[in-house]
Amino acid sequence: MRTELYIDGRWVKPAQGRTFAVINPATEEVIHHAPAATAEDVDAAVKAARRAFDKDGWPKLSGSQRAVYLRAIANGIRARQAEIARLEVIDNGKPFPEADWDIADAAGCFDFYADLAVQLDNNPEEPIALADGRFTSKAVKEPLGVAGAIIPWNYPLLMAAWKVAPALAAGCTIVLKPAELTSLTALELGAIAEEAKLPPGVLNIVTGAGSVAGQAIIDHPGIDKLAFTGSGPVGSKIMAAAARDIKRVSLELGGKSPFVVFDDADIGEAVEWIMFGIFWNQGQVCSATSRVLVQEGIYDRLLARLVEEAGKIKIGNGLDEGVLLGPLVSKRQYEQVVAAIEAGRSAGATVACGGKPPEGVDKGYYLEPTILTDVPLDSDAWREEIFGPVVCVRPFSTEEEAIALANDSRFGLAAAVMSKDDVRAERVAAAFRAGIVWINCSQPTFTEAPWGGYKESGIGRELGRWGLENYLETKQITKYVSEDPWGWYVKPVVRA
Ligand code: NAP
Ligand code: MG
Repeated sequence: MRTELYIDGRWVKPAQGRTFAVINPATEEVIHHAPAATAEDVDAAVKAARRAFDKDGWPKLSGSQRAVYLRAIANGIRARQAEIARLEVIDNGKPFPEADWDIADAAGCFDFYADLAVQLDNNPEEPIALADGRFTSKAVKEPLGVAGAIIPWNYPLLMAAWKVAPALAAGCTIVLKPAELTSLTALELGAIAEEAKLPPGVLNIVTGAGSVAGQAIIDHPGIDKLAFTGSGPVGSKIMAAAARDIKRVSLELGGKSPFVVFDDADIGEAVEWIMFGIFWNQGQVCSATSRVLVQEGIYDRLLARLVEEAGKIKIGNGLDEGVLLGPLVSKRQYEQVVAAIEAGRSAGATVACGGKPPEGVDKGYYLEPTILTDVPLDSDAWREEIFGPVVCVRPFSTEEEAIALANDSRFGLAAAVMSKDDVRAERVAAAFRAGIVWINCSQPTFTEAPWGGYKESGIGRELGRWGLENYLETKQITKYVSEDPWGWYVKPVVRA
């Protein structure tokens, strides 16, 4: 476990020598003290990233040359996959198989963007057809500069990969700040980049508090783009900070995503996907389908089966064999989730199961899978993100009612529908106001496909070619090619 920041290709002690405690949420033990960056460290990181971008030539490399580094990072992650997955478990709490999956996905993300970097060389420019024949024009894509990336604790290394890989592929340099709760694997990414011989300053990693290191990133004039994943309130602050000097900004925020199950669905399959949609990663998933709407004909049977299956989920330390649900990430998160359940109960909701720690556990931030019914539509339990293993289940009668309930939210990250009637499923998918829609499943995420939200769930898209475009500017290059003599009074025809 690392005790230094990764700035300009070197490991450095934080300028003020501060550290913060790293706690294993399964045992509540302090397992490490990580370096706490302050504004001075962020300034050094931004200066290094600026130099790497403006002078050292990272953006001038061909995409194929940058792809070599990205592939080396992917291989470096895979070479240490089990070890890094274990770090993720003791830091975040998630079950080992999920962590192992995340780390493999993170490596895959670097490989994917290596391929897109190569493609940048193949499609360097797009000719533009002009009505005025005296000119030719083309559009080219260029790296936009230095990115500042701020990420949450729910998928620590994977969220880092979603930002670092496309930024580097595009030719940007980057300063990354992981969440204070989960800094261990981000620092290992620095070590992997070092082994991959990534040029100094291209990737800089500053761990520390959001209010200190994060704030210093969003305020720094040397940063051209802010890429953020996290909560709405912090997203709002970031957008406001970006507004001051017109930084580019992309935001991936929270959600309260609906899952509509029609009465022709197979109950067993529906229950499996519902559980995956809310209990995976202890429900600490931005796209979790936390509002389940079930058509009335199967509501009672489905609910009974869901309660029964949720009761079978093995809860425990993520390092133990067969565990499907680990602890929540922190004491604070645990307390917030329990408070949200209690507020739901006070508002009139019924706790069909869960809502408490498992029997006989005295250490660790464990909470049983929780199902709420009779949740009032105007309550916070129905409307606000809980970010824990808590699902609200509610009956509906008609398709129109289901769509109206599903869309009645200030969020619009994801939505899911299950039905054997494909025409209906497609119709509902089209009606959802959400950036990610799943038919007959919930949560599968692919590096190739766009990821991001409508409404208050964010701005911009990550992953796929959309993720690369986040880090590119578009430049128009227009040339005068006519033989006609050119006077200041011979104006080109400008058409709107
Ligand atoms: P958060 O409090 O917004 O923190 C996210 C990141 O922002 C952390 O690195 C945090 O640092 C930093 N931060 C906090 N205050 C800051 C400030 N003033 N300036 C700059 N940075 C600051 O969110 P979280 O509690 O970690 O994560 C949970 C939330 O993230 C949920 O709402 C969830 O829906 C959302 N999320 C969304 C997605 C998505 O893809 N849309 C994915 C995952 C999570 P510290 O940790 O050091 O405070
Ligand atoms: Mg931790």
